[in-house]
Amino acid sequence: MTVSITGATGFIGKRLVQRLHADNHSIHVLTRSRSKAELIFPVRDFPGIKIAEEPEWKDCIQGSDGIVNLAGLPISTRWSSEIKKEIKTSRIGVTSKIVELINDSPDGVRPTVLVSATAVGYYGTSKTQVFDEKSPSGNDYLAEVCREWEGTALKVNKNVRVALIRIGVVLGKDGGALAKMIPLFMMFAGGPLGSGNQWFSWIHLDDIVNLIYEALSNPSYKGVINGTAPNPVRLSEMCDHLGNVMGRPSWLPVPDFALKAVLGEGASVVLEGQRVLPAKAKELGFSFKYPYVKDALKAILS
Ligand code: NDP
Repeated sequence: MTVSITGATGFIGKRLVQRLHADNHSIHVLTRSRSKAELIFPVRDFPGIKIAEEPEWKDCIQGSDGIVNLAGLPISTRWSSEIKKEIKTSRIGVTSKIVELINDSPDGVRPTVLVSATAVGYYGTSKTQVFDEKSPSGNDYLAEVCREWEGTALKVNKNVRVALIRIGVVLGKDGGALAKMIPLFMMFAGGPLGSGNQWFSWIHLDDIVNLIYEALSNPSYKGVINGTAPNPVRLSEMCDHLGNVMGRPSWLPVPDFALKAVLGEGASVVLEGQRVLPAKAKELGFSFKYPYVKDALKAILS
C-alpha cells in the first residue's frame, strides 16, 4: 500500500516508517522541513521514499491508500501561554489540513483510511478511576486538546475509515518521556517520581507501531482505540522495575520539581496519570509483544 505520514520524522513516526519500508510499502513523508526529513531518511537507507513539504502534500494524499497523522508540537516543554496555544494549534492545524486535502480528493483517488493520533490525556487524570474507550472525557487542558483534535479528524469524508489512537506514554530508547526520565533517574538513585501511587499507562514503541500498522490495513479497526499496554502500573512499580533493569537502588524519590524541570508542565501526564485499558484492541484480538512493563524496560535498556 501507499501511506502518507505526518509527524513521520518524530519518535513514533520514524519507527513506523522503518516498519512500513521493510515490508515494501510506498511511503510519503509529509513534513514541514524537507532537509530535516532527508537527514532522517537518507536515500541510501530508504530508497523510494518520497519526502514532501506543502504544497506537495495534496498530490501525496491523492495517491495514497492510507494516511497516518502523528504531527504535533511535543507537550514535554515549559507551558507558556504561547506554547499551550501551539500545542493545540499544531495538532488541530495539521489534522484540519489533512482532512481538507482528503475531502477535496476526487472519488477514485481518495485514501480509504485515516489513522490519527490522540492521547490518553483525553480522559483527564485520576488515581482511582479506570478508563476505557467508552469513558467520558476529562476537564483539563489536555482533555480539551484531545477532544478538539479528535473532532477535527472526524470531519473527514464519511467514506473514509477513521481510527483514532489514544496513545499512552510510549516507551522507547531514543525518545519520548523515558529518554528524558533516565538521566534524572540516574541522578536521584532511582526512586519513585512524585508520590509514586499515580497510574502510568504506557506502551512499548514496537506495540504502538504495530497497532498503527494494523489499523491501516485491517478494516475492523475503526473509531477510538486506546494505544496502551494491557497492564498499566503505579508509577512506583514502574520505577522499581526501571531501577532493577538499570541496576540502580530504588530509594531516593525523584522530586516533582526535578521532573517538571525536564518535562515541563507536560510532567502532569506522569505526575498525575490515569489508568487506561486497551479494551478495543483486546476485543479486536491485537497481540501485544510487551504486555508487562518489566519486559518492555528490559527489552529497551538491555
Ligand atoms: P514527536 O514530538 O517525536 O514528533 C512529532 C512530529 O510532529 C515532529 O517530528 C514534527 O514533524 C511535527 N511537529 C512538531 N512540531 C510541530 C508544529 N509546531 N507544527 C506542526 N508539526 C509539528 O511526536 P511522537 O512521535 O512522540 O508522537 C506522535 C504523536 O503522538 C504526537 O501528536 C503526540 O502528541 C502523540 N502522542 C505521543 C505520545 C508519546 O509518548 N510519544 C503519547 C501520547 C500521544 P516535521 O518536523 O517533520 O513536520
